[in-house]
Amino acid sequence: MPSGSGSLMWFRKGLRVHDNPALEYASRGSSCVYPLFVIDPHYMELDPDAYSPGSTRAGINRIRFLLESLADLDSSLKKLGSRLLVLKGEPSEVLIRCLNEWDVRKLCFEYDTDPYYQALDDKVKNYVSAAGIEVFSPVSHTIFDPADIIEKNGGRPPLSYQSFLKLAGEPSFSLSVELSWTPPVGDVGRCEILQVPTLKELGYVEKHQDEFTPFRGGESEALRRLRESLSDKEWVANFEKTKGDPSAYIKPATTVLSPYLKFGCLSSRYFYQCLKDVYKNVKRHTSPPVSLVGQLLWREFFYTVAFGTPNFDKMKGNKICKQIPWNDDDKLLAAWRAARTGYPWIDAIMVQLRKWGWMHHLARHSVACFLTRGDLFVHWEKGRDIFERLLIDSDWAINNGNWLWQSCSSFFYQYNRIYSPISFGRKYDPNGNYIRHFLPILKDMPKEYIYEPWTAPLSVQTKAKCIIGRDYPKPVILHDTASNECRKKMGEAYALNQRLKGLVSEEDLRKLR
Ligand code: FAD
Repeated sequence: MPSGSGSLMWFRKGLRVHDNPALEYASRGSSCVYPLFVIDPHYMELDPDAYSPGSTRAGINRIRFLLESLADLDSSLKKLGSRLLVLKGEPSEVLIRCLNEWDVRKLCFEYDTDPYYQALDDKVKNYVSAAGIEVFSPVSHTIFDPADIIEKNGGRPPLSYQSFLKLAGEPSFSLSVELSWTPPVGDVGRCEILQVPTLKELGYVEKHQDEFTPFRGGESEALRRLRESLSDKEWVANFEKTKGDPSAYIKPATTVLSPYLKFGCLSSRYFYQCLKDVYKNVKRHTSPPVSLVGQLLWREFFYTVAFGTPNFDKMKGNKICKQIPWNDDDKLLAAWRAARTGYPWIDAIMVQLRKWGWMHHLARHSVACFLTRGDLFVHWEKGRDIFERLLIDSDWAINNGNWLWQSCSSFFYQYNRIYSPISFGRKYDPNGNYIRHFLPILKDMPKEYIYEPWTAPLSVQTKAKCIIGRDYPKPVILHDTASNECRKKMGEAYALNQRLKGLVSEEDLRKLR
């Protein structure tokens, strides 16, 4: 049995001091608290061969966002009389070394449903229970406990948003108390503690200034953004996701709180409670699925299904995913990733992804549909990987869930409804200001041609200083033909999936061919 009365607070996500039940428990009755963050090579190892700066798994924007969040957490902890202890290495090995060295009776960390953390936590828990150390691992990254919802549904996750809402009902949680101080950091012995590193110290070159997102990481910024969004009560009350403008980039149409929720700089429970408080003080407000509370519940829905579905992040072996013979066209994939499809609306969104790591939901819809069932018929897992690396809000459950949705592999099955890479963006932004901003090569293209520059006469292209095929690519496919072909392939794949379930006859299948 450990002799000490200290606690180790292991931060992974949950990078905040507000509403942090693990930190509250670690502080209660402890003589000292070790607030630890481990820099994990799995996510952070530099990859000089990657297609854009960063590590194999995370683009530079998300790494920077994380480092800013850690620096902010360190400064908040200092205000409480503590500080963040940073170590580097495989997290379970580092943690076990610390538990051996330090005066620890309680190990506290936020419960995490991602498969990577589930496996990591199993390793740690095995060691800890043998060592007689108490473990406290509360659910506070989400509003509901996904395991509870699955249990209420007889052991299976609900597969529609409406059934999720019915099962979930009103959440019951109480926010953890606001800390005014934490016990001091204990003796760290021989462990070599680092300061929160800079990008440069981690080996990343800071020369790619234009790649940097305008969104700064950290709890302070998260709470500032939240206050700013909530200050306009009418906006909150009337929020309807489907009515937002995906091309708005100077003032985005949504909160841009997703990266803060991803790293837990903002508590989803606190966000939820603040929204409910606003609703209490207005006459009328929108409701799920389109309201702001509804958006948070989409997050809960995907967390629940992801947690209860084996192989959720794959087509093969995933029971809720349609089996579709996607192609393996790496050339088309590379054109999409490099923002060189020749469709300015699609390419501008892909530039925003690379430079900002964030795009509006409907912009994500446009490019995901284009890559998969809409035009290129490339496997959703390939697009998912690129989003996973480049998004600053990259989230295992939500990203996979939305790719499954948008590729009509699960949840949503109306594959005939395809986003036009030309008219969809034009509806919101007829002048093409969004395209001009993210694709400056097209900045002088007249508005009649900005969504289809290949149709501009050569004289117009010359005047706009943008010759199509030389300065900007010709379209990689023709949308009308490609989308019809995709519809046909989806129809066949759906029929085959049905036949596999024994629901469609050979005769029907022949008719479809
Ligand atoms: P707001 O509209 O202000 O919503 C508030 C919060 O609700 C968001 O921060 C987010 O946590 C949650 N939310 C909103 N929409 C969704 C949704 N459709 N599904 C689940 N939660 C939602 N979101 C991520 O956070 N991480 C991802 O990796 C991610 N990948 C996506 C991939 C694709 C192909 C698509 C189509 C969508 C993806 N989304 C992802 C969902 C959504 O686009 C973003 O959550 C949203 O655009 C974030 O902006 P916001 O914070 O301003 O959202």
